[in-house]
Amino acid sequence: MDQQSIDAALRARAAKVIPGGMWGHQNATRVPVGYPQYFSRSEGCRIWDADGRSYIDYMCAWGPMILGYGDPDVEEAAARQRAQGDGLNGPTPRLVELAELMVDTVAHADWAMFSKNGTDATTACVTIARAGTGRRKVLVARGAYHGAIPWCTPSVAGVTEEDRAHLVYYDYNDAASLEEAAGSVKGDLAAIIVSAFKHDLGKDHVLPERAFAHAARRVADEADAALIVDDVRAGFRLDMGGSWELVGVKPDLSAWSKAIANGRALAAVTGNDRFREGARSIFTTGSFWTAGVSMAASIATITKLRNTDAVGLMSASGERLRAGLQAQARKYGLALRQSGPAQMPVFLFEGDEDRSLGSRFCVEALNRGVYFHPTHTMFLSAAHTSEIIDETLEITEEAFKAVAHVHEELAAKAG
Ligand code: PMP
Repeated sequence: MDQQSIDAALRARAAKVIPGGMWGHQNATRVPVGYPQYFSRSEGCRIWDADGRSYIDYMCAWGPMILGYGDPDVEEAAARQRAQGDGLNGPTPRLVELAELMVDTVAHADWAMFSKNGTDATTACVTIARAGTGRRKVLVARGAYHGAIPWCTPSVAGVTEEDRAHLVYYDYNDAASLEEAAGSVKGDLAAIIVSAFKHDLGKDHVLPERAFAHAARRVADEADAALIVDDVRAGFRLDMGGSWELVGVKPDLSAWSKAIANGRALAAVTGNDRFREGARSIFTTGSFWTAGVSMAASIATITKLRNTDAVGLMSASGERLRAGLQAQARKYGLALRQSGPAQMPVFLFEGDEDRSLGSRFCVEALNRGVYFHPTHTMFLSAAHTSEIIDETLEITEEAFKAVAHVHEELAAKAG
């Protein structure tokens, strides 16, 4: 059996029993040809595809891995809890311990609730805001991603107008458009939901401007509505107290998931006392939402993140990668546009409207053992040490060399 055939064989089987072969954003047809669909193993900052090829991973399972795959402290905590019990008739003591830890860690939090996916958490925030205010309208930034159910999914298939009847759109980092949106729903505003930063797919990433963040807080306060930060993607990578601590704004409600349990399925909502009654009043639950293993993993993850300055480490490694890529791009005559926080980067090539150059570069890196994404937010972890960054940069040097050549040929053809 040749190297590529395990992935290909799995895809062929999947095509028969899974609609479209794979749902959602992890469908490998959304990334360039050459990317694997199936993975078999992980360790530290490395993943292995089903055919056994290994990569330094800059997607971190799309965010959940933050301390390294198989982090020994997290795994030990999870194993200890697994030996005692996971899903039982009610929560384990880990629930209370984790809620206490979240309240102690997250600056705005007076309470916490838990579920499984980011969409559970963003949806609960909206529901709690409506329950707490008795109002209906929610302001959402154009192009922002808050999950994959009818009120927020980027697809329109199977979605009715009514599912989104009470959403009003504004532009991120544009206080005037936020004020206008709020003005259009006077007396009926339940919430403003904001992403931690602007991380729309395929676009440059933009940090929140202080003036915009403070305007969002003021507009919510004036309307007695909730300010919700969707920290699902960025949570615990930018600031342990919550991402909008960086701009000096405390939300009323925050949605968390991805990295909070280093890869175990867990999501959280944190809130302040203003919305405690709203949170108490809604009916929300799930068969797996109180399972103890992911909570034990989360306690170990958050404790370790706090004790090791993981945010500082990830940021320093991200800066090292960014500087290295920039120097290499310059050397090969390519204009690389890097944006986002260093530990959650995205890079796009100037003038590469159809993303063909970016795709080509990522495939060249992939073939040499580095897994980047050509258009989505990427993620660094605490396992991405400076040695790993240097190993990565040796590979990207070759990838740049390969695309510089292709790029020149294409330019010559076009010219
Ligand atoms: N909000 C943001 C900002 C996200 O990045 C995501 C996941 N990519 C979600 C919500 C939804 O999370 P999940 O896929 O776990 O439901």
